Amino acid sequence: MASEKSRALVIRVIDFSETSCVVTLFSEDFGKISALAKGARRLKGPFESALDLLSLCRIVFLRKSSDALHLLTEAKLERRFRAAARNLPRLYAGYYVAELLRSLTDEGDPHSELFQIANDFLLSLDSESEWRADLFRFELNALRLLGHLPMLDACVGCGKCIENRNRVAFGQLAGGVLCSQCRIGQHQVVSVSGEVIATMRRYTEQHASAQQAAPLTPRVAGEMRGVLSRYLCHLLGHQPRMHQWLDGQTHKHQ
Ligand SMILES: [Zn+2]
Repeated sequence: MASEKSRALVIRVIDFSETSCVVTLFSEDFGKISALAKGARRLKGPFESALDLLSLCRIVFLRKSSDALHLLTEAKLERRFRAAARNLPRLYAGYYVAELLRSLTDEGDPHSELFQIANDFLLSLDSESEWRADLFRFELNALRLLGHLPMLDACVGCGKCIENRNRVAFGQLAGGVLCSQCRIGQHQVVSVSGEVIATMRRYTEQHASAQQAAPLTPRVAGEMRGVLSRYLCHLLGHQPRMHQWLDGQTHKHQ
């Protein structure tokens, strides 16, 4: 059994026995891994309460073959997720990140850049950041890094460049914007404002700085939430648990 080290975010903790847990971690070097943490539920256990949801840890684990759970041997806490102390919406936004990392990634498939943006976003939730815009940015860039970003500038059917008009047809199943020819006969097509498509595009430009971006208006935020949530539902084949809460949040200001 090889011993491996990495930084990792705790994305799920399930009690396994009176003293042990099964933890799902999103690690910087190995992607999502599930591991047995023996003694984690003991008060003075070997992990010293490092294994709380959304904590950032330095972990050591013994790699098991094929289907068996890895064995977590060490977890040193680097940062606890403290957003809960600030307000509930920031805590729930954190839960949603954990949910997306669990459902969008495969076990043992490394995505170090995705780890980085998730870690940065969780850190920003602990600050005074404008988290609603940052959450859209995280969702869209997670999709980009995993190869699931919808086509936003060219027709997903024929590749023709789509001019940014007032309204643009967006195919939820087709996975992007559609020209007037290609939208014929397509199912699950919605009409989206050109401003929303332009904002989504801007959020996925890798060098765009948050400061340069125009502030997100409630109208654009509401429409973008609808498009993105429905697209994610189609992609995952189910509705993420946190979506209902997110829909209710879109128009609120803190
Ligand atoms: Zn087309």
